[in-house]
Amino acid sequence: MSGPRIGVLSLQGDVREHLAVLTGLGAEAVLVRRPEELAAVDGLVLPGGESTTMTKLAVRTGLLEPLRDAVRGGLPAYGTCAGLVLLADRLLDAPPDQPTLGGLDVTVRRNAFGRQADSFESRIALDGVPGGPLSAVFIRAPWVEETGPGVQVLGRVVGGAADGRIVAVRQGDVVATSFHPELTGDTRVHGLFVEIVRRAAAVGGAVAVPSGAGAGAPHPGGDQ
Ligand code: GLN
Repeated sequence: MSGPRIGVLSLQGDVREHLAVLTGLGAEAVLVRRPEELAAVDGLVLPGGESTTMTKLAVRTGLLEPLRDAVRGGLPAYGTCAGLVLLADRLLDAPPDQPTLGGLDVTVRRNAFGRQADSFESRIALDGVPGGPLSAVFIRAPWVEETGPGVQVLGRVVGGAADGRIVAVRQGDVVATSFHPELTGDTRVHGLFVEIVRRAAAVGGAVAVPSGAGAGAPHPGGDQ
């Protein structure tokens, strides 16, 4: 059985690390730089990097609107750090003209941990990720300041000045973390996402045939 086809948004950021983890988990991991490539995936990873740069490049390459439509139309997505910023419906401490894709009903504060903690590592326990707390690497990371009613909080910082801050969330098939599991060798969060994509692809395939509504399907990854 071949794994689900998962794209990694490849405009900027730590693309290669995500590709390696996804491939190691048995997914077919591919680069997404163009709308046609986006239309051919079952799920999408939005990597860490610099969200302002990524959105500028997305606008320039004509990918912003297709990305918005895809995520809001139900394409499973997993964002790490800058990817969380991209998925947020609302931003704090961002340039007023910074667009997001949205799809995740949260308010995210960019670079929230402050200058003295630009980069640090912590242990975070995540709901839905068995096996104990994972080592979480934060690099100029955002946190989630507020969540809407449909958003499940998966993990919070424990201890220190940021004690209790939300750093991992899920809403339906959209998952996001403030930190970078792709940098630690712990593949459990990616494993959770691959499972989400696998299940969504299976359900999408089963529904698309009897409904006969393939042409109008909102899910761009639904074609086999
Ligand atoms: N501070 C960056 C941003 O807001 C995110 C940093 C990261 O992805 N490591 O885009």
